[in-house]
Amino acid sequence: MTGELSLKLYERAKRVFPGGVNSPIRASVKPYPFYVERAHGPYIYTIDGKRLVDYVLGYGPLILGHNHPKVARALREQIERGWLYGAPAEIEVRLAEKILNHVYPNGMIRFVNSGTEAVMTAIRLARAATERKFIVKFDGCYHGASDYVLVGAGSAATEYGVPKSKGIPEEVVKLTLVARFNDIESVEHVMKRHGEEVATILLEPVIGNYGLIPAKREFIKALRELADHYQALLVFDEVITGFRLGLGGAQEYYGVRADLVVLGKVIGGGFPIGAVVGRKDLMENLTPTGGAFNAGTFNAHPVSMAAGLATISVLEEEQVFSIANAAAREVARAIESTAQNEGIECSVVSLASMAQVFFLKGSVESPDDARKSNTKAYSMFHEELLKRGVFIAPSQFEVMFTSGVHTASVVEETIGAIEESLRAVKRGLQS
Ligand code: PMP
Repeated sequence: MTGELSLKLYERAKRVFPGGVNSPIRASVKPYPFYVERAHGPYIYTIDGKRLVDYVLGYGPLILGHNHPKVARALREQIERGWLYGAPAEIEVRLAEKILNHVYPNGMIRFVNSGTEAVMTAIRLARAATERKFIVKFDGCYHGASDYVLVGAGSAATEYGVPKSKGIPEEVVKLTLVARFNDIESVEHVMKRHGEEVATILLEPVIGNYGLIPAKREFIKALRELADHYQALLVFDEVITGFRLGLGGAQEYYGVRADLVVLGKVIGGGFPIGAVVGRKDLMENLTPTGGAFNAGTFNAHPVSMAAGLATISVLEEEQVFSIANAAAREVARAIESTAQNEGIECSVVSLASMAQVFFLKGSVESPDDARKSNTKAYSMFHEELLKRGVFIAPSQFEVMFTSGVHTASVVEETIGAIEESLRAVKRGLQS
C-alpha cells in the first residue's frame, strides 16, 4: 500500500487536476500515486513515512541524485542575488561556454525552458535555415508535447504519420513524415520521395521514451550521409542522453556530428530548461540576428543556469559517470540473472546510467520489438518493487535512471527487492 495520507491527497488532487496530476505518467503509479515529503541523495521520502530508492530521478535530470550539496550551495548563492532579471547575467554565458565546450565547440546555443520548447525551436530554425517544410521523425521517438512531433507511424505502407493526441489537426501532421528506427531503408524510402523538401531528420539517437533502444552505429552514420545527400539538417534530440551518455553525449558516443542538438534535463540540474545547440551559421537564424522567432520570459532563467552550471561542474570534477553507469549495469545484471533462474522470459537493455527490462522473448532493436513486451508483467514489476521500497517508472515505455549517489551499497539494498519482485511477477503471470 502506498499510504493513507497519499490516498487522501490524491482524492483532493483529483478534484482540482484532470486525473489528479499535472503530467499523465504520474497517475500510472499503482495503486495510486505516493506523495513526496522530501528527497535526498538516492532516496525519496513519502508523506506516509516510506523511504524509496529512486530510479526515476525526476525522469532523468538528477544525475547527481537529490539535493547534491554543491548544487544546493549554488542555488542558495543565486537566490541571494535575486532570481529573475529580464536582462542578461554572467551565469548564462558561463553555462553556455561550458556546454558548448563539451557538445559543440565553435557552435552557439539558445536557452529555453523545456525539452518541448527546445524541439519546437529547433524545428522552426531548421525550416528557416533550409527554407523547406517537411520534417522526418521516427516511430517510437518522443520529442515533447508539441503538435508537429506528437506523431506516430500510420500504416506500414506510408510515410505519413498520424496524430498521437486528440486536438492535433491532420493538416498539421501532414508536414511530419515518419520512418522506422534502426531501419535505414525506411528513411531512404521517405527521402527518395520527399528529400528535396525535408528540412530536418530528427531523432533520439538512443530512444529513452520507448523503453531503452540505442540506435545501431551504422544507422546513425547512414542518417548523417542521407541528410548530407539531400542537404537536410540532422538534429539529435539529446534531452535524455545529453550529459548522461558522457560529457559529449550521443555525438561523442557515435562519433557523428549533428547540425543541431536539442538538450534539456541534466543541463538544468533539476530545474526547468531546454536548449538548442549547433552550427553558428544555423543558430544565427534565430531572432534577433535572424528571422526565426524565439523568445521567452524565463529563457536562461538564472536559477536553472546556476543549477546546471553546478551540475556540469560536478560531472567534470568527480567520478559521477563511473558510479552511475556501474549502478545501471548492476541493476540490469540482477534482473537478468534472476529472470534466468526463475525462467522468466525477458530482455534487459542497459547503456551508461540507464536500463530497462522488456518482458518478451528475443531482443529489442526497434519500437516494433518493444511493443511485443508484456506490459502487464512490467506494471506488476513496478508495483511489487514499490511495495519493497524501490521506485522505477510505472510505464514499460520509460527507462530506469541511476546517478552518482547510486553507489554499490545503495544498489545492493535493491537487489533483494528485485529478486523478490520478479518472483512475485512470475506468480502473477501463472495465476
Ligand atoms: N525530447 C526527449 C528525448 C525527451 O525525453 C523529452 C522529455 N521526456 C522531451 C523531448 C520533452 O522535454 P520536456 O518534458 O522538458 O518538455
